[in-house]
Parts: sequence; C-alpha cells; structure tokens
Amino acid sequence: MFNFYKYCLFCFSPLPETPSGVGEHVFPKSIYGFWRIYDVCETCMKHFGDNIDQLPLQNPQVLKSIEQLQLPNAERYYEQIKYKGTDTINGVNVKMICKNGSFKTKAHEINENFFEFSENDWQNIGVRWLNRKANLQKEEIENEIEKIKKQYDSLKLGEIVRSSKLGSSIRKRSVKNIKIDEPNLAHISPLIAKIVVSFLYYILSVDELASLDKVKDLINHARYLKDLSSNTINWCPLAQEPEYNKFHRVWVTFFDRSICIDVTFFGYPNWRVILNSNEPIIKHDPDGKLIKEIIFILDFKDSENRKKHMGFIFKDSDKPIFYEVKF
Ligand SMILES: [Zn+2]
Repeated sequence: MFNFYKYCLFCFSPLPETPSGVGEHVFPKSIYGFWRIYDVCETCMKHFGDNIDQLPLQNPQVLKSIEQLQLPNAERYYEQIKYKGTDTINGVNVKMICKNGSFKTKAHEINENFFEFSENDWQNIGVRWLNRKANLQKEEIENEIEKIKKQYDSLKLGEIVRSSKLGSSIRKRSVKNIKIDEPNLAHISPLIAKIVVSFLYYILSVDELASLDKVKDLINHARYLKDLSSNTINWCPLAQEPEYNKFHRVWVTFFDRSICIDVTFFGYPNWRVILNSNEPIIKHDPDGKLIKEIIFILDFKDSENRKKHMGFIFKDSDKPIFYEVKF
C-alpha cells in the first residue's frame, strides 16, 4: 500500500508518510467493493463509513441488482427494498416488502391503536403486539387469535372481525398496484461523488482537476454532505441490463471542454456526472495515442478471482483495450 498524494483527497489534511489502517474502499465493501485507496485520512474514512457506505443498501435499484446476482447472503439485502401498494377496498397506501419471492405487508405500528401485519405473521408479530396491548397471557391471546382466524377466513375483503377480549378488530384486505416505494429512494449521491472524486484523482493531474467545475462541490458533498446543485449527479440507467453483472465500473469520456463520468454498480444501476472544464483536457497514452475514454472495472466473478481492469478507447476506435491493474 502506498500514497499517491501527501494530503487527504477530501479534507486536504496532511497524511502520515506511511499509510496506516486498511485504506478506504472506494466502492463500499458492503457491495463487494475491493478497490482501496490510501490517500484518505482517518477522519474522512470514519465519515464515509458512518454516513455513506451503507447508502447502496437502501437503494432499490442496487438491491435489485444484488438480488439478481444470487450470491449467498444477498437475501438480507433485497428484503430491505421498500414497496408500496394500495388497499383494494379503501385505496389506502400500504407498506410492503418482498420475502422469498412474494409480497407481504410490512409489519409495523401505524399508531398505538392500529397495527398492520401480514397473514403469515399472525403467530409471531400479531400475538406479540396484542400481548402488549391487551395485557393478556400469551396463551390466552393465542387461543383468542385462533378463534378470530376461523372467522377471518370467511370474511370478505374490507370486512372486520372484532374481539372484545383483545379489545381489537382485524380487517381483511388485499393489496394491488405493488411497486417500489420511490419516495424512499435513498439519496446515494454522496457515494457517487466520493467514487467520482477518488477516480478523477488517479487519472487527472492536479491542474486538470482544478480546471473542472463542480469538483469542489462534489468533494464537499461527499465529505461534508453539503448540498449539490440538483442536476450534478443524475440517475441514468443503461439501456440494457447485462447478462453478467458481477462488476462495478467507472467510465470517463473526454469531450472538448467537458468530461462525462458514469458510475455503474453491478453492471446496471448507473449514475452520470458531467463536469465542464476551462480548457480541453487531452489525455495520451505513453505512445502518444489520443485517449477518448477510460474505463475502470472491478470484476468480482468470484471471491477468489477479483480483478481490477483499466481500459482505454483511443481516437478512431470503438474497442477498448483492457489491462489488469494492481493499484
Ligand atoms: Zn480527510
């Protein structure tokens, strides 16, 4: 491990001569990231760990991609996707989750008199909640619930069964129009900002970085969660989901006075940042060939076989040439 820079990339405090600690995972470890950099100070690393690195696990698109990977342990991630639906009878919004491939009501207390839960959860969650409310012994509640359940089965949608013993009513319903709960889309932008800034430090000179607008804004957004103008980081899904999605990617395209950076998780969910520059940024390879695009890929085919690749697309060509990189 080694430092490229003498100062922290995000707060500019001096770094120790020899890097300490484990380094900063640019793509969080929680989403199988394995590219680490050592130019981030301990304080900034703690900030990222506490505030930013868990963001992808709150993002439906990322969670869905994890689901498609069918990796062991991935289930606990995609069960966190929040869905919502509509009560077929009264049109009220209902919070849902998806478990083992089927949707169910998310068990939760709406207020002290109103609790939602799925039919499958009667025994576990319903009994526990009623126990607290009705102040009866668990066994009494279970017996009472068994009684209610018999009546419940013959209810029509929207109908209610009452229990004076429990002081509660249970209403039967079904839910339609189930979809991802978009308002709960996690704001993943500080993480995208962190990845973009980290990568740019490795492909651009300090002068080139300084010529770009919004780099400071991205740093402040990632490091201090400061506001970012609304169209700086854009959700920009790719046209097609790839067959093989065990990779993360940063893709930089150079234009005359701007660069476009795409950050892709698991081959599909993609965010785009466009930065303008005062003067053209011109990149050449060591042989003097003009570089149009730079692609960095974290490939985690399997845990034994994780590789980092850097690809270049040169002028007058559309085909990237890839090299394995060790940094
Ligand atoms: Zn720092």
